Amino acid sequence: MARKPLIVRTVSPLRKAVATLRKKHDSVALVPTMGALHDGHFSLVRHARKRAGAVAVSIFVNPKQFAPNEDFGSYPRNFEQDVAALSKLGVDLIWAPTETAMYPGGFCTAITPGGPALAGLEDAFRPHFFGGVATVVAKLFLQVTPDVAIFGQKDYQQLKVVTRMARDLDLPVKVVGCPTMREKDGLALSSRNVYLSVEERVTAPVLYRVLKESAARIKAGEPIAAVLADGRAAIEKAGFKVDYLEGRHAETLEAVVSAADGPIRLLVAARLGRTRLIDNLGV
Ligand code: AMP
Repeated sequence: MARKPLIVRTVSPLRKAVATLRKKHDSVALVPTMGALHDGHFSLVRHARKRAGAVAVSIFVNPKQFAPNEDFGSYPRNFEQDVAALSKLGVDLIWAPTETAMYPGGFCTAITPGGPALAGLEDAFRPHFFGGVATVVAKLFLQVTPDVAIFGQKDYQQLKVVTRMARDLDLPVKVVGCPTMREKDGLALSSRNVYLSVEERVTAPVLYRVLKESAARIKAGEPIAAVLADGRAAIEKAGFKVDYLEGRHAETLEAVVSAADGPIRLLVAARLGRTRLIDNLGV
């Protein structure tokens, strides 16, 4: 029978719980999430179980990574369902801090990431975003002190930002990226997919289709700029407003001119009605 994970909401019991887990299981993996869990998150949990003796999942909708005009208030929250699913997966610990446990009164310290956080992709449209992510992830690492932290490639720029931050600050954690889980029609699983109307849900897989076609054409030697111009047009034609569709160096996220500058990662963000979707694919 599934054993309910220990749920902790403040730092002091968290530290005790982690110490107990480490004593018993040697190593601890952390999967940071904002809840509303789906198979993408579960794939990270399964991977975490392979990498460490004990698995902790954090669930925290981080106000610092949302701008005032964004969806912090309406972001889906299904805590009881999340706990039930994580129980079945054998998770040991759920770190679900209250907002005051994470940001006590007077909180005024932040991490300012550079490098991949200033690549001109997500940061160009959500300037507050990576500062909020880096600050909360640094805190999660210091609170849980995991040996390994598992992130999805779905949020590719975020994965690079967190990897860089851990390296730059000598945080003693190995950051691991896992592949994107998709619906059968290619749409990347996302907690925000629930915002899509029935019609939008039919259109949404266009993003992945364009990424796949573009990757194949670039691989076959076609010029990147022309391929991506076609891709942008196809996405707009389907009814999206494109924030960006770009090919970047897969590690640095710097601009590339040709496949010879590669390895190349294609990254896209586009809005369909009120839903903003992001996705990416290696060439
Ligand atoms: P979120 O709850 O959306 O902040 O995501 C928590 C973690 O799950 C992040 O590391 C995401 O990259 C990862 N994730 C989200 N969607 C997927 C997906 N479809 N496949 C794999 N990982 C994902």
